[in-house]
Amino acid sequence: MISDDLFKEALKVLPGGVSSPVRKFEPHPFFAKKGEGCILYDVDGNRYIDYCLAYGPLILGHAPEKITSAVCEQIKKGSAYGTPTKAELELAKLVIERVPSAEMIRFVNSGTEATMAAIRLARAFTGKDKILKFEGAYHGAHDYVLVKPGSGAAAAPDSPGIPQDTTRNTISAPFNDEEAVASIIEEDDNIAAILVEPVMANIGCIEPEDGYLKFLRKITSENGILLIFDEVITGFRIAPGGAQEYYNITADLVTYGKIIGGGFPMGALAGPRRLMEHISPAGDVYQAGTFNGNPVSVTAGITTLKELTDDLYKELNKKGEIIRKGIKDILEDNNLEFYLAGLSSMFQIYFTQEKVKDYTSAKTANLEIFKKYFHSLLKGGVFVPPSQFECCFISAAHRKEDLNMTLEVVEESIKRAVK
Ligand code: PLP
Repeated sequence: MISDDLFKEALKVLPGGVSSPVRKFEPHPFFAKKGEGCILYDVDGNRYIDYCLAYGPLILGHAPEKITSAVCEQIKKGSAYGTPTKAELELAKLVIERVPSAEMIRFVNSGTEATMAAIRLARAFTGKDKILKFEGAYHGAHDYVLVKPGSGAAAAPDSPGIPQDTTRNTISAPFNDEEAVASIIEEDDNIAAILVEPVMANIGCIEPEDGYLKFLRKITSENGILLIFDEVITGFRIAPGGAQEYYNITADLVTYGKIIGGGFPMGALAGPRRLMEHISPAGDVYQAGTFNGNPVSVTAGITTLKELTDDLYKELNKKGEIIRKGIKDILEDNNLEFYLAGLSSMFQIYFTQEKVKDYTSAKTANLEIFKKYFHSLLKGGVFVPPSQFECCFISAAHRKEDLNMTLEVVEESIKRAVK
């Protein structure tokens, strides 16, 4: 059966034909058959150089041999135990070695669960109720954070079904705007935490301006507010110690997802002992999960983190530079002033001439041009996330020739899209 037929079938049994909204694009998404290295194959016989990489987790590419064999070995020994494992301990130590602020970690099943737990812990610890987040930031699909999110939910902020009473405690501020944050904090002494994606990667790819994270660190410390870095995307992506290491800022709590599970479902919340020991059963802040610390995900996570050496980061960063330089040249050669964003192995082209520094400027991007660009890339065998407001990722499996081929398709696609 081809994707077209499968999608018709899927529409009957899966809301919108997909299991997560961002996966849907017109006329229908392709159905994946298998992934191998940086290549994704569909059931229609097409192959794509993949820069979506399952929205970030696959930093080593699809089905890397080491992970596949470690996971197969683990599965033979069982897939869940409901009792602790040595492997959890090993992964905890690997994270703690890499992450400056982490002394303890709680493994959960997704980034969504991680931010939910972080918010609860921050509220319990500070005795305050409110959370300050940023417009366009995405922290998962739970009620507390679906206020002006980005990504798949960008079209539906404040989803129906979320009581006003819940989001009343969630305040949004524009990213990269010191004054906005300062005046909110000035007026409100009931803020438990600032929750921030250090690089906003669910509204494209927006870096913090110089000094912004430092400002957030200072203002939170001075006002008894916890600083939570949501590193579900940046964690283990932009440096071994994530954005904390990359920008040299220590957050109070850090949430993880994606890469930490090595391509399997997992999330985590990490921080110093003084905070983490409030989590049950050490403390009274309840957090639990049947699959927390799942041995299959933990095995994949361990194998992945061990592969992520300094040399590998250097290589990934270099690949990022090749792609960004290539796109910059294409834009210049064609007299186009679109905004190119990215760092490390992340990138995105915004089809706007404005400098993109927050939600409002990101929203000036021309979505019609993006749509044409996306479909032309797809036709040329390059798969990027189907939304202007997602970020593209590069993996260790992308080779130089893949990048070069991609740049050719990007050039052709940009030209077609702006015609
Ligand atoms: N936080 C950030 C920054 C994310 O990008 C995401 C997902 O894309 C989440 C949280 C939610 O993670 P998950 O989809 O694993 O629940």
